[in-house]
Amino acid sequence: MNNLPKSHPRYLSLLQREKIVKGFRKGMVVPQGLIAQGRAEAFDYILGEKTIRPAKKAIEAAASLFLLAKYPVISVNGNTAALAGKQVIKLARASEAKIEVNLFYRTKERKEKIEKFLISLGAKKFLVKKMPQVIIPGLKSERRKVSKEGIFKADVVFVPLEDGDRTEHLIKMGKKVVAVDLNPFSRTSQKASITIVDNIVRAIPLLIDTIQKIKNKNRNKLKTILKNYNNKKTLKEAIAIVRKRLIRMSSLN
Ligand code: ATP
Ligand code: MG
Repeated sequence: MNNLPKSHPRYLSLLQREKIVKGFRKGMVVPQGLIAQGRAEAFDYILGEKTIRPAKKAIEAAASLFLLAKYPVISVNGNTAALAGKQVIKLARASEAKIEVNLFYRTKERKEKIEKFLISLGAKKFLVKKMPQVIIPGLKSERRKVSKEGIFKADVVFVPLEDGDRTEHLIKMGKKVVAVDLNPFSRTSQKASITIVDNIVRAIPLLIDTIQKIKNKNRNKLKTILKNYNNKKTLKEAIAIVRKRLIRMSSLN
């Protein structure tokens, strides 16, 4: 749709759909990615398509973790590239992180397409493409194949739109995992070290702003922010908001 009217009440949501469909047509997004976006839309609708307070808390903790990290890596899949490619690069710049394309439905061709797309947006400096490839122990999916200079080496991995399996295995390897997932019930959300229950198109810009805001704080302050953050509690707060919204919208008076 070329003439998406800005005044349309669902403009922002439709814009995301258009980006995903465009990514699909270019061969960056798989058909399964369209389904994932649909599920995200459903949760976003329930949450009011706004960044909820628990997500803001998670973003502050994630920003602190990024700033304290020795070797942060951003894992990018087709949906993330299509929806937030530019923002991912800004995040890499703000946090001195690497970017690695890592796919559940992996083909060499699709990986290269996404890498080329990211390079066209200015990612060259941050992108880890290099072999040797190594395997995440125990993981069965294609996502087990990671770069030795990227996810394998990372102490902090940022995984927007992750699958639960890999989150679990990255944690088992001793890494801290920051997830962005609108579904607070998913295994990814439940297993990550920090879960941002928000749409990536809102969460990543907020994360960049927060990093810029707190980057001059001393390390002990950042450590305190992290120490005071409790992911289980924050997730419960997000679920309580889902419940509250459903109760309010189903109330008969
Ligand atoms: P898990 O493996 O963690 O239990 P899943 O298998 O149910 O999760 P996947 O298909 O692996 O889910 O991943 C897609 C997830 O990403 C969904 O939970 C969906 O809500 C979320 N998601 C998709 N698009 C977005 C988006 N734009 N912003 C935030 N979250 C999104
Ligand atoms: Mg999954």
